Amino acid sequence: MNYVSTRGLVASANFEQVLLTGLAPDGGLYMPRRWPTVTKDQMASFAGAPYAEVAATIIGLFTGETFADAHLKEMAQSVYGGFSNASVAPLTPVGDKDYILELYHGPTLAFKDFAMQILGRMFDDVLQRHGKRLTIIAATSGDTGAAAIEALKSCKYVDVVVLHPEGRVTDVQRRMMTTVDAPNVLNIAVSGAFDDCQAIVKQLFADHEFAERTSLGGVNSINWARLAAQTAYYFTACAALGARDETVNFVVPTGNFGDVFAGFAAKKMGLGIGQLVVATNANDILHRALTSGDYTPANVTPTTSPSMDIQVASNFERLLFEVMGRDSSGLREKMANFAADKTMALTTQERQAIAEHFISYAASEEETLAEIRRHYEKTGALIDPHTAVARCAAVRLRAQGALEGKTVTLSTAHPAKFPQAVERATGVTPSLPKEYSTLFELDEHMVTAENDVSAVKSIILDRVGAVRG
Ligand SMILES: *Cc1c(COP(=O)(O)O)cnc(C)c1O
Repeated sequence: MNYVSTRGLVASANFEQVLLTGLAPDGGLYMPRRWPTVTKDQMASFAGAPYAEVAATIIGLFTGETFADAHLKEMAQSVYGGFSNASVAPLTPVGDKDYILELYHGPTLAFKDFAMQILGRMFDDVLQRHGKRLTIIAATSGDTGAAAIEALKSCKYVDVVVLHPEGRVTDVQRRMMTTVDAPNVLNIAVSGAFDDCQAIVKQLFADHEFAERTSLGGVNSINWARLAAQTAYYFTACAALGARDETVNFVVPTGNFGDVFAGFAAKKMGLGIGQLVVATNANDILHRALTSGDYTPANVTPTTSPSMDIQVASNFERLLFEVMGRDSSGLREKMANFAADKTMALTTQERQAIAEHFISYAASEEETLAEIRRHYEKTGALIDPHTAVARCAAVRLRAQGALEGKTVTLSTAHPAKFPQAVERATGVTPSLPKEYSTLFELDEHMVTAENDVSAVKSIILDRVGAVRG
């Protein structure tokens, strides 16, 4: 399997390079040169198959020569076998044709475990082969950091540094990161917002001397390997629904456009997906882009679904690349103009091409909390605010006649990760699964830093230097 950059200025890469570098050297995002296809026979074999088996087949279509089939299967079994639910990604009916796909049974109780866990194995495997060591750095608004630390803490060849905005993640989110006591894990609480953390990370990558010295690598959702792993649950969900000739819609709570783009990839691979619904919170740039063609970032509004408090959705570039017929020079120009003008207008043709696959809805805070309450009253089950944004979109769009037939809403986090919002909506405090009973007793390990790139840099150099001797 070969990969190209959306910006078209680098030679093609293999999966291993895509995994280790994340962003392409020309500033673009890697995309498979051709979409792999899943045959009807393969699709039929997914019905009733264990999650790990389907995942290994799907991921294998993207990893090409990098891992032997049996080895990939073994990695998938060991990773997904550690999830707390035997089905790994169980599907629960919530109405006549509506289902919830629970993606929060991994070790950090959010869907990011699906990709991050297997990435950890892939990193160690590839790095060991090359005798290399990598420093993975990530900025997090909460879930990515915990998933990355949990997945990479036992890696022999990876150091992991996570920047989170001090005081702006939930206690559960912070403790899932800081209570991990491992020599290769460094938590930095930055006195600033998530965007500041993100800006620092970007500056660190841009500092070539620093990046080289620490062998910097990234695991945010621009890393194609993450999206490759996430396409798997679209396949298992359709298989579980026994959907043959009818298509299935997916409603996806969206921030960086990664998860919903994985759904698009699954559709391109031949899966019978109807509509892909982009559900956003008040940070509605994607909803505006899809409904009016106006892609203009506003200021970030903090909401009860913080993992979606994002204005510039990095993976949107991948969709633009597709709808522009993979015209990378046109895309380069578009992205350069966007960087200069901080606004982008989609053409009628681009909007039409997007509308063939995607619709959108932006849920307000009031709607989100009302949906948590409504869902609880109707089913007796608690959902987290990110899931509620998506359920809200599903309910409203169906009422408007925009969604017909079987519809799966992705449930991306366990309600106990966002206890305040859930309690505010229902009066009930969701409890953490019992495996986490010591979370509030363990010591926390983190350092604090000013919102300043050189302060962060020297903290990292001290630590990475000490670990590597
Ligand atoms: C990261 C995250 C999202 C958004 O996913 P994207 O791939 O960034 O669109 C939604 N819900 C939860 C709980 C998340 O952690």
